[in-house]
Amino acid sequence: MLTNNRLIKDLKKDLSAENVLSEIEERYAYAQDATNARKIEHLPDAVAFVETTEQVQRVVNIARKYKTPIICRGAGTNVVGACRTDHGGIVLNFSKMNKILDISRENMTATVQPGVVVGDLQKEAEKIGLYYPPDPGNLAVSTIGGSIAQASGGAKTFKYGSTKDYVIDLKVVTAKGEILRTGSSTIKNATGYNLNSLFVGSEGTLGIVVEATMKLIPQPEAKKVLMAYFDTVEDSVNAVNAIIEQRIFPATLDFMDKNAIQTVEKFYPAGLLCDKEAALVIEIDGFKNSMEYQQNIIVSILEQCRASAIQYSTNEDEYKKIWMARHSSMGACAKLKPNVTTDDVIVPRKNLAALVKGINDICKKYNLTVCMVGHVGDGSVHPQIPIDYRDEDEYKRLKKAKSEIYDLTAKLDGILSGEHGIGAEKRSHIHKVINGIALDYMRQIKKTLDPDNILNPYKIF
Ligand SMILES: Cc1cc2nc3c(=O)[nH]c(=O)nc-3n(C[C@H](O)[C@H](O)[C@H](O)COP(=O)(O)OP(=O)(O)OC[C@H]3O[C@@H](n4cnc5c(N)ncnc54)[C@H](O)[C@@H]3O)c2cc1C
Repeated sequence: MLTNNRLIKDLKKDLSAENVLSEIEERYAYAQDATNARKIEHLPDAVAFVETTEQVQRVVNIARKYKTPIICRGAGTNVVGACRTDHGGIVLNFSKMNKILDISRENMTATVQPGVVVGDLQKEAEKIGLYYPPDPGNLAVSTIGGSIAQASGGAKTFKYGSTKDYVIDLKVVTAKGEILRTGSSTIKNATGYNLNSLFVGSEGTLGIVVEATMKLIPQPEAKKVLMAYFDTVEDSVNAVNAIIEQRIFPATLDFMDKNAIQTVEKFYPAGLLCDKEAALVIEIDGFKNSMEYQQNIIVSILEQCRASAIQYSTNEDEYKKIWMARHSSMGACAKLKPNVTTDDVIVPRKNLAALVKGINDICKKYNLTVCMVGHVGDGSVHPQIPIDYRDEDEYKRLKKAKSEIYDLTAKLDGILSGEHGIGAEKRSHIHKVINGIALDYMRQIKKTLDPDNILNPYKIF
């Protein structure tokens, strides 16, 4: 307790009192993230709001002095317990370090602070005809720092890649308080090890991102979304492969199963066709005069693949309505029971149909409802499982089902996370897909960069 008081006093001295939260209610609010863990067992000691790199360095020095963890926090939207404070410590909150420092039309890059909201960067880039495609599912809140740390992907990954493909330089405060630069301002870089890649997806365990330079691309002139319905899941997956085989490259190839369609329609009516087994949400974009051509080819492939109905957006409102329906799936699922969990297993596309069927079989075996959505163009599936955490038996069944879903994913040559990360939630399963030698090297990298284990400890492995 005495140490705790001294830690808070030091933080208040270095950051000013209004930037440090230490009341029990405040600490409780920052012990969790969007993972919706069953119980909150440990609170952080304090929450520190920072605005400058120098303040981040000061917090690191305090954490080193007290050998206490630092858990970085953007918007807390990750769904793997990456912000959980299982070992106490200081939550380093970046919501006030949120300036877009520069957008260069000439270089097609943006340099931003970590707390910048991804959707805000997109809007600013659009003003000068540029585009930042990664969309971590919650554009209005997720931050650049959090999406770098989780290697976030989203619906546009199929055509445009994920966050990792856009990072060209990071300014990082290390666990020793030094400042490390991982890249350069240039679009290409073959100079030394690729440290950008090391930090992307490191979930705040290797260093603290205080500035990021991201690549931008030209904004597509036009976009449109189609929703194609199928009477079997297999037909919908076959249609994905058929579209790709024709070398058509939609911006998005997303999926919703019958449960997801019906649940969304029940709580957020959007005119979805509830009698269908599966739907694909397909966005096309590009030059205005290419839209009709792309649409015609895709529609003819969909028809050949037995699509039983197709809806199109003909204006911005309809475009938003279809996307709102797709993005509402987790919110809708959360209305079925008091809690909801999601996941993001991913397999090579050829094994996708087997993965979807296998997840359904596992959930049936354990008497769990599952609403499945996913970025099927990438082979990625989000099984969303509504659950009542107060029901001990249901919770045990959920744990068993999850473990079997990971076993199945490994068997199908897949990996545990395509875009959400591992965090605290999946760390006990990582050995199923990463071999022991690779894990040992990961541990050595962690030890080299963070010898005192203060940066988001006991996450990932
Ligand atoms: C409904 C819903 C749908 C979603 N859909 C998708 C989806 O389609 N695709 C997808 O990829 N994700 C999806 N997500 C997950 C989530 O949106 C991402 O993980 C998000 O990018 C995290 O951003 P954040 O700002 O909330 O980070 P946080 O959750 O606050 O933090 C995430 C991690 O980043 C670390 N961190 C934060 N800032 C820094 C920093 N400056 N330096 C170092 N480490 C830092 C934290 O310690 C933590 O480990 C979804 C989540 C929800 C709730």
